[in-house]
Amino acid sequence: MSELEGAEARHKVVVVGSGFGGLFGTKALRKSPVDVTMVAKTTHHLFQPLLYQVATGILSQGEIAAPTREVLAKQKNASVLLGEVVDIDLEARTVTSQVLGVEKVVPYDSLIVAAGASQSYFGNDHFAEFAPGMKSIDDALELRGRIFGAFELAELAASRGEKVQDLLTFVVVGAGPTGVEMAGQIAELAHRTLNTDFRHINTEKARVVLVDAAPQVLPPFGESLGMKAQRSLEKIGVEVMLGAMVTDVDEYGLEVKFKDGRTERINSSAKIWAAGVQANPLGKLLAEQSGAPLDRAGRIGVNADLTLPGYPEVFVVGDMISLDNLPGVAQVAIQGAKYAAKEIDGRLKGQAPQKPFKYFDKGSMAVIGRFRAVMMVGRFRVSGVIAWLSWLAVHLMYLTGFKNRVTALLRWFVSFVGRDRSERTMTEQQVFARRALGRLEGGAKDLVSLRRPEDAVEDRRHELEAQAAEEARLTDAHERGVRVG
Ligand SMILES: Cc1cc2nc3c(=O)[nH]c(=O)nc-3n(C[C@H](O)[C@H](O)[C@H](O)COP(=O)(O)OP(=O)(O)OC[C@H]3O[C@@H](n4cnc5c(N)ncnc54)[C@H](O)[C@@H]3O)c2cc1C
Repeated sequence: MSELEGAEARHKVVVVGSGFGGLFGTKALRKSPVDVTMVAKTTHHLFQPLLYQVATGILSQGEIAAPTREVLAKQKNASVLLGEVVDIDLEARTVTSQVLGVEKVVPYDSLIVAAGASQSYFGNDHFAEFAPGMKSIDDALELRGRIFGAFELAELAASRGEKVQDLLTFVVVGAGPTGVEMAGQIAELAHRTLNTDFRHINTEKARVVLVDAAPQVLPPFGESLGMKAQRSLEKIGVEVMLGAMVTDVDEYGLEVKFKDGRTERINSSAKIWAAGVQANPLGKLLAEQSGAPLDRAGRIGVNADLTLPGYPEVFVVGDMISLDNLPGVAQVAIQGAKYAAKEIDGRLKGQAPQKPFKYFDKGSMAVIGRFRAVMMVGRFRVSGVIAWLSWLAVHLMYLTGFKNRVTALLRWFVSFVGRDRSERTMTEQQVFARRALGRLEGGAKDLVSLRRPEDAVEDRRHELEAQAAEEARLTDAHERGVRVG
């Protein structure tokens, strides 16, 4: 058999997504006799747990988004393909992806789908324009622009003698870990970082409101840690509004309805949505073809070995699955992807199937502010500095890339020991480009010109050659600087 034939005969694994499931699944196959193609709609692996620090100016986007090509550069059996997966054909065993209108169909022998989840607005998707969620780098940068922009607009308004309180009101919807972390950081930003930077406004008077329909903050952490977190938030100046359901959001604020029927309007220019998740629509696509059930959040029911019912060659992992009430956390995706990779490898080596997938819970933590966090590991509960130090160690350990760990540590030193933020840059693009793109029917695709016909390229070449010849002639004839006429 020739070398080429040998290469063609290798088992083909396609991995959808470059998040925790996708990247860790691909890496776990590095020693297997397979060729892996990782198809993802971004060129990076995003460390979502630190998105809030990009939004609030502590970290740069590069520090939490390692380029997947660089991460996988040394893994010779893996290749990366940029594209949004738009179709998976379970019978033909192909994955179809698109980027800027260019389509690619990749065949597979085994498939790992790890496309994650997005923000859910509970059927009110129009809220998204006024209250972005926090799932991507685009989200975090837009929020950074909106948050720092609100202080700038307030300064401008104050300098003109206008009222500023609405501009200095920040509302975070959702009191889960993301909402708590975000609200805590905005409060520290307003009260600690920016308080000497402005001349017309007092940033310490900024109002930071954390709203949730639930009766407590951080419900998965239990009542006592939830209470501790709430008290810590209040100490750093966050107003916690519980039992308050958001019923409307517009450009200038939002409306909440309390359990007793009372409604309240909160005027605010910067609103952040951190409530609710919706599994990736690829789950629905797989469910339609396989008959697998979907839960209310669009998560797909999988077998105990993470395979799709009726399709043992297809694994679904991470935030997309509904199995044994597993939480939507990074470790579920990482452990699931490693399990799927091991199963694929074992099958090729003729090994018996593994026992059903079992998630090992390594614990949860949420940061409230500097030196304040809550942590839960099994029955063990802790809050305060110890929890914060544990958070620091765990996040450094899991952040992808050595250089990112070093720079993140430096930036945390600057922000937590000092009071500065290294990444306060904001641009018009951050705030408005996505909205502008959204108004184009085909999005970014509409901005890409059709390929120039060959003759148009040649015309341009002649034009450039003539221009270069004229430049050279002018220099050689000493005609530069000579007055004409
Ligand atoms: C703000 C925030 C904070 C969080 N904090 C924590 C925390 O502190 N601890 C914790 O354990 N968990 C945390 N989580 C949850 C954790 O990040 C997720 O559980 C984890 O990322 C799930 O991994 P996944 O692989 O299923 O999905 P993801 O990591 O979301 O990866 C999905 C991948 O699929 C790609 N993709 C999506 N659709 C397509 C498509 N159609 N075609 C191609 N590619 C596609 C995406 O670009 C991405 O690369 C947090 C999440 C968020 C949003």
